[in-house]
Amino acid sequence: MIKRDSKIENILDQIPTPCYILEEELFEQNLKLLQYVGKESGAKILLALKGYAFYESFGLAKTYLDGCCASGLYEAMLANEEFGKEIHTFSPAFKEDEIDEIIKLSTHISFNSFSQYKKYKKKTKDRVSSGIRVNPESSFATAKLYNPCALNSRLGVIISEFEPEFLDGIEGLHFHALCEQNADALEIVLKSFEEKFGKFISKMKWINFGGGHHITRDDYDVRKLIAIIKNFKKRYNNIEVFLEPGEAVGWRSGVLVATVLDKIVNGMDIAILDTSAEAHMPDTIIMPYRAEIRNAGLKGEKRYTLRLGGNSCLSGDIMGDYSFDEPLEIGQKIIFEDQMHYSIVKNTTFNGIKLPSLGILRKNGKFEIVKKFNYSDYKRRN
Ligand SMILES: *Cc1c(COP(=O)(O)O)cnc(C)c1O
Repeated sequence: MIKRDSKIENILDQIPTPCYILEEELFEQNLKLLQYVGKESGAKILLALKGYAFYESFGLAKTYLDGCCASGLYEAMLANEEFGKEIHTFSPAFKEDEIDEIIKLSTHISFNSFSQYKKYKKKTKDRVSSGIRVNPESSFATAKLYNPCALNSRLGVIISEFEPEFLDGIEGLHFHALCEQNADALEIVLKSFEEKFGKFISKMKWINFGGGHHITRDDYDVRKLIAIIKNFKKRYNNIEVFLEPGEAVGWRSGVLVATVLDKIVNGMDIAILDTSAEAHMPDTIIMPYRAEIRNAGLKGEKRYTLRLGGNSCLSGDIMGDYSFDEPLEIGQKIIFEDQMHYSIVKNTTFNGIKLPSLGILRKNGKFEIVKKFNYSDYKRRN
């Protein structure tokens, strides 16, 4: 199990807010566990850039992982510039004016339909290893927004639409059906995948098990995952297996630090922060989930309860109601836990709110701001 000993509090005074901070030591523990899974199981582990693209940390990440999974041209470019190694690109639909560049950058490419494969087949021949994304029609993702196998999903070919007569040149199958799940969910999805597409597997060189494996979470059954992959490889002539976790790479490896700007009262105490749920922690609103705050409890759990809100004009820009042992003071810093994945990549400058700086707490204890944003980042987008 990963020991998560955060040292953010030691450097709290030095942090200009709002600021995301990666704790290199925690991040490296995730990478080590992922590398272990790869080594023990024989699978290759790719970082899904969709969830985590903080490339200042890629120097470290690429020493442990096998490459990146990109969702299109820009992610493939970033993978090529900052990570190297294998680049696996999947997109719901590739555009004609981007496909050549994508093929050039990618080692593997997964098409979302046979019509896309037929369209670009000639271009891919001998230049990139091509695969088809299939939909195993089995998923336990609880949030509909994050369920790739939901009714009428556009992601992956369902078995009734599969066209085996056009498999010529296809070397891999890709499925992605999990979201924040444990190995038992993979086991069930894999069973469904094999029931539906099993007869094509022996014709393939690789199978990509997608992302959503919550490998670095404390209760994740790493042993079971390794056993599932080893068993699969054994049954299919040691076929290459890929996993492409995003969230598990950044999981609990860093925080978002904000400052209390003001306190008001309207039926309850409310604090306004120099960050925004909408712009800087969007999944707290759209998933939705409640971000943990260091040393805070649920509403009413500790002595002082108050609502925390963002500094935008959106009435729903609220992180939630939290309680503290001491009253919050204006100027005080708040530490939102686990803000490395699906936050930085989703940031917006909505309402002209300043993007949080990006910082790294290095292994040697040194704190470094690696990126700051300013007015031009806002202006250029509008
Ligand atoms: C989102 C996504 C991933 C990463 O998922 P996580 O939940 O972040 O692990 C991997 N592959 C594909 C195709 C995806 O869409």
